[in-house]
Amino acid sequence: MNRKVDFLVIGSGIAGLSFALKVAEHGSVLIVSKTSITETATGYAQGGIAAVMYNPDSYHKHIQDTLVAGSYLNNEEIVRMTITQSTERIEELIAWGAHFDKESSGRYALAREGGHSEYRVLHHQDRTGSEIQRALTERAINHPHIEILENHFTIDLITQHHLGRIVRRSHTDIQCFGAYVLNPETGVIDTVLAKTTMIATGGVGNVYQTTTNPTLATGDGIAMLYRAKGVVDNMEFIQFHPTSLYNQKEKPSFLITEALRGAGPVLKDDKGNEFMHKYDARGSLAPRDIVARAIDNEMKLTGKEHVFLDARHISEREILDHFPNIYAKCLSIGINIMKEMIPVVPAAHYICGGIKTDANGKTSIEQLYASGEVASTGLHGANRLASNSLLEALVFSHRASIAAIERMAAVDFEENIPDWNAEGTVLNEEMILITQSRKELQSIMSNYVGIVRSNLRLNRASDRLEILLREAEALYDKSVVSVDLCELRNMINVAYLIIKFASQRKESIGLHFSIDYAQKLKQ
Ligand SMILES: Cc1cc2nc3c(=O)[nH]c(=O)nc-3n(C[C@H](O)[C@H](O)[C@H](O)COP(=O)(O)OP(=O)(O)OC[C@H]3O[C@@H](n4cnc5c(N)ncnc54)[C@H](O)[C@@H]3O)c2cc1C
Repeated sequence: MNRKVDFLVIGSGIAGLSFALKVAEHGSVLIVSKTSITETATGYAQGGIAAVMYNPDSYHKHIQDTLVAGSYLNNEEIVRMTITQSTERIEELIAWGAHFDKESSGRYALAREGGHSEYRVLHHQDRTGSEIQRALTERAINHPHIEILENHFTIDLITQHHLGRIVRRSHTDIQCFGAYVLNPETGVIDTVLAKTTMIATGGVGNVYQTTTNPTLATGDGIAMLYRAKGVVDNMEFIQFHPTSLYNQKEKPSFLITEALRGAGPVLKDDKGNEFMHKYDARGSLAPRDIVARAIDNEMKLTGKEHVFLDARHISEREILDHFPNIYAKCLSIGINIMKEMIPVVPAAHYICGGIKTDANGKTSIEQLYASGEVASTGLHGANRLASNSLLEALVFSHRASIAAIERMAAVDFEENIPDWNAEGTVLNEEMILITQSRKELQSIMSNYVGIVRSNLRLNRASDRLEILLREAEALYDKSVVSVDLCELRNMINVAYLIIKFASQRKESIGLHFSIDYAQKLKQ
């Protein structure tokens, strides 16, 4: 079936919904989400959203912190633009109905996280993301111009390639005419024609074995864009959160927020000894990448599968008031964090790179925008400053909405798009092949392309990935499309890009740490 909308939005997290709410004032909007509307990484965010609110904080300080965290590989203009819009975007979010914690004086209660020189993180207890998701969802489902297709999977973007024209990556005039969308329940694939398409599909965490990301984070948007010959950037910069709860049975791994570390708990080994000062003078408050590498090193030295975060000296009041979610979660697996240390392990958490965009969220493809974790805007550089990602999504979705609305009158629907070419005939009876390939992929990425890398490991990863790629493409060509198979293919595409970018970077910087270009870790 063919459908026509002014704006097609792929993804229902903070990036997709905030864009949709703005453009819906100017045309019809279809939001496609492969999950339910609220099952997003946005809903998982705990710590909060960074913004400059009061003295003594300033835009200058927030800009400097962002540049330092990013090892100055950030685009300084983009950093300045994003940070100076932070207050305005937060005010808008509050006007949309999101609640943030306040002090008794009526001022917003601001937290300070690792890498921030001031208190500037707005939060809603330790459930900030679900509060933002709630507010945006309520508005979107009640908007008369917004239609939401939940549990529908976008397979591929539509470009000139689908009109039988050859498109090369170097072409500057590739256009996006919409996307092919699968209803997994019926197997029907709709052709959705759109004047503007927004990719807001989130992150890639599931290419690794241990991740804080929900299972939806399989890099679909990046893979789709790359297949459509668009430009990606900075793919080597994967942030590993140093402290996810060690609980092997659980996926995704439960995050122990940076904000808890900011409140005073200390990292210790299994003998109860502090170890962070061996690695960085800031101790347990050092930036994430340093802490993650230090934990990785301690685990390798001791042969243990985790280290501990000791919060026993934090007051009961502080824990119950500010971290009730973490307290309840740990208690549910038998750990009372007021009396026992929390076992923690690093987990893939965030990708700084992705689809390259300009200052308006525009990709290298015409009529195609990207915002949120899927995008590489230049804000984060080689490492993301904590709580800057929700802010980035708001700022770029806002700017993309203005740009897309302005362009709208000049764009027509492309009418001659063929239906999806369903060549495959084999039903997905060999599910075990997909499951096994997915596990192999995650093992390759965790073992060879994780926190500490080397040329040897990257080459090994590349050789093994090639076999998986061949097998997945062969399976894809003969099979009826399914979500599992598409996700596998997308994850392999994304893994290929991470390895490629990591291999090309001949230095250790930010989140990309290679023993071939760095001094040995201190012990
Ligand atoms: C545990 C955790 C804690 C975090 N804490 C913080 C924090 O405190 N502060 C902060 O700034 N950031 C935090 N982050 C990062 C931040 O939450 C994410 O970067 C951000 O929410 C991403 O928003 P998004 O809109 O880009 O994507 P998401 O919120 O992940 O939404 C992605 C959407 O795309 C849809 N989708 C994906 N692929 C397809 C497809 N093929 N077809 C159709 N739909 C598709 C999904 O169904 C979903 O609706 C945290 C992340 C995690 C995992």
